[in-house]
Amino acid sequence: MKTLTGKELAAAIRVQAQAEAAAGGQPRLAVVVATDDEASLWYVRSIAKAAAGVGIACDLVDLGPGARPEQIDETLTRLSGDPGVHGVMLQTPLPPGASAQWLAAAIDPRKDVDGANPLSLGRLAAGLPAFAPATAAAVMALLDHHQVELEGRRAVVVGRSTVVGKPLAHLLLDRHATVTVCHSRTRDLAAVTSTAEVLVAAVGRAGLIGAGHVAPGAVVIDVGTNPADDGGLTGDVDFEAVAGVAGALTPVPGGVGPVTTALLLRHTARAANLP
Ligand code: NAP
Repeated sequence: MKTLTGKELAAAIRVQAQAEAAAGGQPRLAVVVATDDEASLWYVRSIAKAAAGVGIACDLVDLGPGARPEQIDETLTRLSGDPGVHGVMLQTPLPPGASAQWLAAAIDPRKDVDGANPLSLGRLAAGLPAFAPATAAAVMALLDHHQVELEGRRAVVVGRSTVVGKPLAHLLLDRHATVTVCHSRTRDLAAVTSTAEVLVAAVGRAGLIGAGHVAPGAVVIDVGTNPADDGGLTGDVDFEAVAGVAGALTPVPGGVGPVTTALLLRHTARAANLP
């Protein structure tokens, strides 16, 4: 079984992001936050740190957990119109009553570096150029980096969120995989997932995917990040059990996560260089 780590790829993408950032003006990413959720704040701080490392300025625009939807909308609209800002991202969770999907429509698609605006998803679905959500793009980048053949192969994505499952299904289709998408109402999940030559789990349930869900030799990508008993992170895939069946498997942490952050930075550098 091959472990598909993401650290080496993430480092290579950061090098590209740095070169692209240096080629343009001063790229600037604005991350809008309206939460006091510690895990979320930790994530945005880690983005800011990684951005600084590749020469991208990163502003954390913290509206606080009591922010009203109109305030978030106004902030996204203002940042979208600011010529000094090249990438705009809306971090979840949001306060009750605020919908990320509705609010993300205020992000200029040319600055939508995390592919959150429904227009970006629509363009992806239509096969037109758009920024894909960084996590979905990270899964594709990992598959390519590890030279996983996609054309004509059976791919199963578990999870249909607009940030991971749906855009990923379109990206896989674009690469000529035969794609099935599963979700919470899928009957006999294991019967479907065990048909996959490439299986992606993007659910948010620790250990959901066990050995019985995986075909011998399958490539398994674990997008899930769930709190582990030891205070760290664990994926949706039961790593120990599935390692005995799969041909290749991503670890959590150290798989999709680092590639996601690196791609967000590369998207920002690209947004700054758009004609
Ligand atoms: P989400 O919006 O909560 O979507 C979860 C999806 O899983 C839904 O489509 C849901 O189905 C489906 N689901 C729930 N229970 C299921 C079950 N028992 N069997 C089959 N499908 C089931 O989550 P998300 O934002 O897509 O995130 C998914 C996971 O990825 C989370 O762990 C998140 O933390 C992680 N994530 C990681 C990164 C990274 O960079 N590594 C980035 C983003 C997200 P329904 O649609 O029917 O409800």
